[in-house]
Amino acid sequence: MTELLYLKDCYLKEFEAIVELVEGNRIEPDRTAFYPESGGQPADFGEISCDGKSARVVMVKKEGGRVLHELEKPAEEIGIKQGCTIKASIDWDRRYTFMRYHTACHVLAAVITKEEQGVEITGNQIALDRTRMDFSLENFDKEKIKQYEEEANKEIAKALPVRIEFLEREEAFKIPGLVKLRKLLPESLKVIRVISIEGLDQQACGGTHLKNISEIKGITITGTENKGKSNRRIYFKLKE
Ligand SMILES: [Zn+2]
Repeated sequence: MTELLYLKDCYLKEFEAIVELVEGNRIEPDRTAFYPESGGQPADFGEISCDGKSARVVMVKKEGGRVLHELEKPAEEIGIKQGCTIKASIDWDRRYTFMRYHTACHVLAAVITKEEQGVEITGNQIALDRTRMDFSLENFDKEKIKQYEEEANKEIAKALPVRIEFLEREEAFKIPGLVKLRKLLPESLKVIRVISIEGLDQQACGGTHLKNISEIKGITITGTENKGKSNRRIYFKLKE
């Protein structure tokens, strides 16, 4: 099991860890700040070093409870063995952009679900240059889209703080609209990580978020697409 340090501190950029497993180019540390590719958010990249030698981390994936960090070269080449201590740092600009997009997804979802009863998020994909979100909506027109964009930006301008809480499953499910993603939370999850944007939204989520939504700066919806009868796709970009 790799301890996920970003669950409590999304702004952690550097950390030390002990290597629990080495498999060719891939290593499993006992703890990590690297976000593994999941939930529509790409993996963090960065660097890992051991005794002064270093290697780029080019992919991070979750396999069961393990988080495997793929290096650009075999771990052995930089002297990484099971049990040794590594220093690691994540590429912050890349991660911070993902955090801005990810938190913007919460804001946009909150704005749309407030307006449209029973709407769900059916998919999303974050990238460095834009993000798309799919909603189970029957129809939306250009005016509606403009309205959602304006409302999202109005919320962002309010500079609402974002809080991370860990709640017992029973407690968490008392929150209305806790799960907006069409994927259900696994039964085995006894403690739920709840992300609250003060006065706007509460959402069960394992992702990386900003401390305050003002850091999003603003969004521009750049396009929409119909994906099937009741599925609508929205593309948006962050304002610089
Ligand atoms: Zn989230």
